[in-house]
Amino acid sequence: MGEKEWSYLEEAYKSNWIAPLGPSVDGFEHDLASYLHVNSVAALNSGTAGLHLALQLIGVGAGDFVICQSFTFVASANPITYLGATPVFADSEPNSWNIDPECLERAIKWCLKKGKKPKAIVPVHVYGMPADLDQIMAIANEYDIPVVEDAAESLGSTYKGKACGSFGKLSILSFNGNKIITTSGGGALAGNDKEMIQRARYLASQARDPAHHYEHSTIGYNYRLSNLCAAIGRGQMEVLDERVAQRRHNFQYYQEALSDIAEVHFLPEPEGAFSNRWLTTILVDEKLSDGISAENIRMAMDKMNIECRPLWKPMHAQLVYKDAPAFLNGVSEKLFAKGICLPSGSNLKDSELDEVISIIASFFS
Ligand SMILES: *Cc1c(COP(=O)(O)O)cnc(C)c1O
Repeated sequence: MGEKEWSYLEEAYKSNWIAPLGPSVDGFEHDLASYLHVNSVAALNSGTAGLHLALQLIGVGAGDFVICQSFTFVASANPITYLGATPVFADSEPNSWNIDPECLERAIKWCLKKGKKPKAIVPVHVYGMPADLDQIMAIANEYDIPVVEDAAESLGSTYKGKACGSFGKLSILSFNGNKIITTSGGGALAGNDKEMIQRARYLASQARDPAHHYEHSTIGYNYRLSNLCAAIGRGQMEVLDERVAQRRHNFQYYQEALSDIAEVHFLPEPEGAFSNRWLTTILVDEKLSDGISAENIRMAMDKMNIECRPLWKPMHAQLVYKDAPAFLNGVSEKLFAKGICLPSGSNLKDSELDEVISIIASFFS
């Protein structure tokens, strides 16, 4: 937390707006819309809820295909399944670790051959690194398929100067406890189509029709963000750029300190990309390193009570999605086998980064 969250929270508490709507929700939505430079934002109680609503608003239903990046957290794919649609997974390209335009196009062509144009494309900016949006948007436009951008990990990242979370027809953010800013739990749906975002607010509030009594003509959800959580979010927006700077510092510090170790690779920013460096990740080259693997490093950290995690296990390799169609090139499986996320909190001290660095370095000296 920063300095301001408490005063926003106190204001919300004292005004007695303890509800899933209120002035802090409106204010937070406004803050987010102006940060992203989009017309409208609906604050929700999770990023997953945002994806569920986005896909429904775009018209995804039972039996449809939705193309989804395979190398991601499971929440990118599950809302496709909630709607009775089938996720079609596309592998990553090595420069950003995000959806590979070639796999994307293969996936689209396969769906077309099956007689069904995919209803949406869900690219992700994993670990905060922007996807190759020029190519992805060009393919999406060519085939006229809407993009639902999963920007849950990339608030504060930009692609060619434009905010991640402002490219899709609809985009989602997350403010879960582990994200770059948090409301303890929360999310948002962003877009330029005001009516669509207004429709999302309606669906997120149990689809209550305008009437004095409780009138319902469609099925809704309880997905709105609490006014108290939104108050925290307003304070967090004031420190977002500082958080990005802290995360980028972590990355630079690790990279510089480990630059002499040929076996340890960091992911550079591709041309045009500015990453919030939500998590700093490394790949360990086993060929060069006498069989020392990322897992050896992770276990050594664990012994010192330092938590590291393997990179995302791709969706096509998950038991729950083993039967889903997938268009692969080997990249995401390699990332899962070779990569770990290093400790990346915004409040890490350089002395703590040094501890992590010395454990990694000890394997290669
Ligand atoms: C965190 C995350 C989500 C889901 O957000 P929640 O707020 O936890 O529901 C979706 N996609 C990705 C890539 C995420 O990292």
